[in-house]
Amino acid sequence: MVDLLPEQTRHWQVVESVAREHFRRAGLQEIRTPLLEVTDLFARGIGEATDVVGKEMYSFVDRGDRSCTLRPEGTASVVRAAVQHGLLSQGPQRLWYGGPMFRYERPQAGRQRQFHQIGVELLGFSSPRSDAEVIAVAWALLADLGVQGLALEINSLGIPEDRKRYRAELVAWLEARIDQLDDDSRQRLATNPLRILDSKHPQTQALLEQAPTLLSTLCEESQERFAEVKLALSALEIPFHINTRLVRGLDYYGHTAFEITSDQLGAQATVCGGGRYDGLIDQLGGPSTPAIGWALGMERLMLVLEASADADPDGSAARLTTTNPPDLYLVNRGESAERLALVLAQKLRAAGLVVELDGSGAAFGKQFKRADRCGASWALVIGEDEVERGEAQLKRLHSVSSEASDASKDQLHRLDDLSGLVHVVNPLAPSNLPR
Ligand code: ATP
Ligand code: MG
Repeated sequence: MVDLLPEQTRHWQVVESVAREHFRRAGLQEIRTPLLEVTDLFARGIGEATDVVGKEMYSFVDRGDRSCTLRPEGTASVVRAAVQHGLLSQGPQRLWYGGPMFRYERPQAGRQRQFHQIGVELLGFSSPRSDAEVIAVAWALLADLGVQGLALEINSLGIPEDRKRYRAELVAWLEARIDQLDDDSRQRLATNPLRILDSKHPQTQALLEQAPTLLSTLCEESQERFAEVKLALSALEIPFHINTRLVRGLDYYGHTAFEITSDQLGAQATVCGGGRYDGLIDQLGGPSTPAIGWALGMERLMLVLEASADADPDGSAARLTTTNPPDLYLVNRGESAERLALVLAQKLRAAGLVVELDGSGAAFGKQFKRADRCGASWALVIGEDEVERGEAQLKRLHSVSSEASDASKDQLHRLDDLSGLVHVVNPLAPSNLPR
């Protein structure tokens, strides 16, 4: 589990605000669910034989003797909340969520025990076009952020009967080659053979290249549906590869499953994963409702944005990481000056300026050095003399915009007319000074 320090949270906030804007434009509404749920929700929702439920959950017994789990993903909780509050009887729901998730995994680059996801869920949507729409929202967001080397992989897992038929075929094929399987996969042969397709074991992956594919065993209806999804993606001009072994790490998917990867990430190349889960809502006690969604790993996204910014210093990813220095640094020294500076700082902030108040009481020279280092555009200097005169010196430090160039010289400013000062420092700041 890692801390996010100010240098990182600054970038996170920019990315999160871009995501929020994309969600707003897509008519998605935010839902916030608790970090803690009863364990049974995930056991039933995600599937007992998945890695997530089998060995990655943070579960404990609480003081009321209930088994609780820190959420390992968002979909089960969103569905639980939608069912519990009757949202589905109000019509289709277009939702997004974000926040920390917990999985007891082996920590490595792009893989943590507490990580963050943002995700989208469309509940009550059955059309193949909604599969493409939900993918397009993720694709547009990642492209807009400037993520490079994006690739979309899709597969169809069909309907439950397709998977049942395929399971038998796959098990027979793998049983004939059981000596070539890793231990984990051998166990799964009895519990959840489709999960073997998701194995990260290189030898097993190589073997699977020859295995029968789910896609070729789909019934005609599932095939047609998949064709519609592909048509819609082509209409959106979103390029995709078909990956017949893509099953995702959670058991609730049927029909479309997809992942978005970036070649800028090493081993953990998947930034975003999702798919259709028409059976889940019914399984969790709600009315039978088709649904589709995805989740995007924030840590991996930040890694890929860093790599993209390095690869293209003029691209959008690089622009996201630029800093936001204060408009004005308040240099102040002496008892009455320091009191006045505090009051001024609050008034200027209320007027929309970003103001950093030096609180050190150090010599003017030292304060100026700090003002310079923080990148502020202006310094406002207040000492005892200035307090007496009701005037302060405004000094240009870094030039930012050409708009301010006519005001780039040092100047004196009456402190009883703050609106003039606000206008010089930041011509765009709303000068609604409180009295
Ligand atoms: P992986 O195959 O990489 O383990 P997954 O199939 O378990 O991924 P999902 O449950 O679909 O992943 O989660 C969606 C996204 O959340 C992933 O694509 C990834 O970006 C991110 N993610 C999942 N697990 C972690 C983790 N432990 N640390 C950081 N990010 C993660
Ligand atoms: Mg995983």
